[in-house]
Amino acid sequence: MQTPSFPSRIDPWQLATEGGRLEGALALAALPRLATELHRTEGVADVALVAGIDPRGVRFIKGTVRTGIELVCQRCLGSLQLVLDTTVSLGLVHSEAEADRLPEDYEPLLVPEGVISVAELVEDELLLALPPIPRHADERDCEANGYRAPDRVEQDQPFAALASLLRDSSRSH
Ligand SMILES: [Zn+2]
Repeated sequence: MQTPSFPSRIDPWQLATEGGRLEGALALAALPRLATELHRTEGVADVALVAGIDPRGVRFIKGTVRTGIELVCQRCLGSLQLVLDTTVSLGLVHSEAEADRLPEDYEPLLVPEGVISVAELVEDELLLALPPIPRHADERDCEANGYRAPDRVEQDQPFAALASLLRDSSRSH
C-alpha cells in the first residue's frame, strides 16, 4: 500500500504497528518556530522516516531529516549557510515513567494517545540540531562581511584614550 507523500498528522502508535513510512519534502516556511531562527525561509526539509516495532518491543520512528538553511552569524551578522543532517531515533512512550525505561539508543517521543503533527515532529528535530550560537567556522568568512576581531578593537582603545588624554592636557596648559 502506498502511503501519501505527507499526511499532516499521524497516529505514531498506529504508524509503528503498520510499519509505515514518512517520506517527502516539508517547506521550511511551514515550520514557524524554526523559521524565526532563519535568515531566509526558502527551501524544504527532506524527510525520510520509517516507523516500526523493534525486537525489544519498542515502537520507534527512525530515519533522517536533512535541509540546507541560512542563519545569521552571531559574530559578523552576515549570512551563514548550514546543512542540517539529523539522524532521528525516537522511541514512543505513553508516560515519563516509560521514557525512563526506554533503551538508550532512543530519544523518547511522549505521545499518550491520539495524533501528532508531522511538521512539529520534524521541526523539533531540526531545532535540536541548530547550533546554539550560529557562527562561521572560519573567522575569515566573518572578515569578508566586514567583521573585525574583538582583540584588535580592544588594542586600539587604550591608544585612543591616551590620545584624547594628551589632547586634553595640552589644551589645559
Ligand atoms: Zn560570521
